[in-house]
Amino acid sequence: MDGKNRSSRISGLHKKSIRERIELVGAFAGLDAAEMDHLANTGNLDEHVADHLIENVIGTMNIPVGVATNMLIDGKDRLVPMATEESSVVAAVCNAARQCYDNGGFITSMSGPLMIAQVQLVDIADPQHARIKILERRDEIKAICDECDPILVKLGGGFRDLEVRIIATRGGDMVITHLIVDTRDAMGANAVNTMAEKLAPYIAAWTGGRTYLRILSNLADRRLARARCVWKAEAIGGAEVRDGMLAAYHFAEADPYRAATHNKGIMNGVSAVVLATGNDTRAVESGAHAYGARLGRYSSLTHWERTAEGDLAGILEMPMAVGLIGGATKLHPTAKVALKILSVQSAEELARIIAAVGLAQNFSALKALATTGIQKGHMALHAQNIAMMAGALGDEIEIVARALVAQGKVRVDLAEAELAKLRSK
Ligand code: NAD
Repeated sequence: MDGKNRSSRISGLHKKSIRERIELVGAFAGLDAAEMDHLANTGNLDEHVADHLIENVIGTMNIPVGVATNMLIDGKDRLVPMATEESSVVAAVCNAARQCYDNGGFITSMSGPLMIAQVQLVDIADPQHARIKILERRDEIKAICDECDPILVKLGGGFRDLEVRIIATRGGDMVITHLIVDTRDAMGANAVNTMAEKLAPYIAAWTGGRTYLRILSNLADRRLARARCVWKAEAIGGAEVRDGMLAAYHFAEADPYRAATHNKGIMNGVSAVVLATGNDTRAVESGAHAYGARLGRYSSLTHWERTAEGDLAGILEMPMAVGLIGGATKLHPTAKVALKILSVQSAEELARIIAAVGLAQNFSALKALATTGIQKGHMALHAQNIAMMAGALGDEIEIVARALVAQGKVRVDLAEAELAKLRSK
């Protein structure tokens, strides 16, 4: 296919085999045989599994899985698998955890595995009246929801509570019903969406209005994971380091520009574990940022204080909608192994570990920023990436990276020069 004939209007691509799709895409994009073979190699994810997880599959994307060490969480030692492409994320967690290990590590807790589904009701002349009519039906609503998922109910989950809010919008008042559902060890999106869809026609009939959207909220503020930890001042380099870290936190708390980056660092840790366990990174990310802005101004997800003893206490509290069942958790073989390494028995246990990782990540970022700056710690690993970009292979990567770090300049042109020097020896 030449450039002129290229059209993205391909019907029925999903019905073709992976190999056929690769060939079609290869012809479209001018891929050579090696590039198409590269796509066809799905590594340790069986191509049939990949093909059933999403549509139009042409390959898989390998991301390194590292393991965070030194994690003492609620008195138990854990090794935490983390899937990320970003250098220094895993090292940051290991370092933070090492510095609090002797002081007891992380203490975690959780508000419970409660998800919220929303049903949108519009065209209501008397929203206050409608609100009460819906609230009156609590028992019926519980029965309708629980009937949707007998497995969940058998496992001790199901409908827990009802909230009805009236919100003023550009399109007039809307009556929004919240179903609060205990989804046990499932993230719960499908479970609660099914309930909301089943319930919507009843709400319309009871109130005389019209229902539109019926879907979960990713602002899972009834599913908060919490982690706290005290780092002894002497273990982190003394009072000056502690105060620098507190100043960094105060900055993030007061300024959304800083808070965005501060929280991105937390999510470096959180999303890596969420991904490694086959959970939905976007669900957790949207919940985190919405929670960070819940008071009307986007702010830090962590809080840091100086204790009476002069040590540094950190806490992280954030929505954590993750599961051990559903989605890719039970289908992706790497996720299954990751869950085995974590040795968690419930979604709550997983969520609490992830919160500890997020807090550890934030500790390391604040410490680096308040002391040597972020680049020093990043340098060695970043230098390896730059060495690879310059074409270094095998042992050359480490040698070229070390030479770049020694010069204090990590640039591709310098890496190419170092590589040329090495190869000419
Ligand atoms: P799911 O529907 O695949 O599995 C959950 C079901 O498994 C439960 O309803 C229950 O019937 C059963 N189950 C068996 N053992 C259980 C146990 N121990 N605990 C709880 N349930 C058990 O998955 P889900 O968690 O409802 O949905 C998660 C998926 O939905 C993810 O893949 C996510 O990406 C996707 N999703 C997300 C959004 C969003 O976040 N906005 C929207 C739609 C879909």
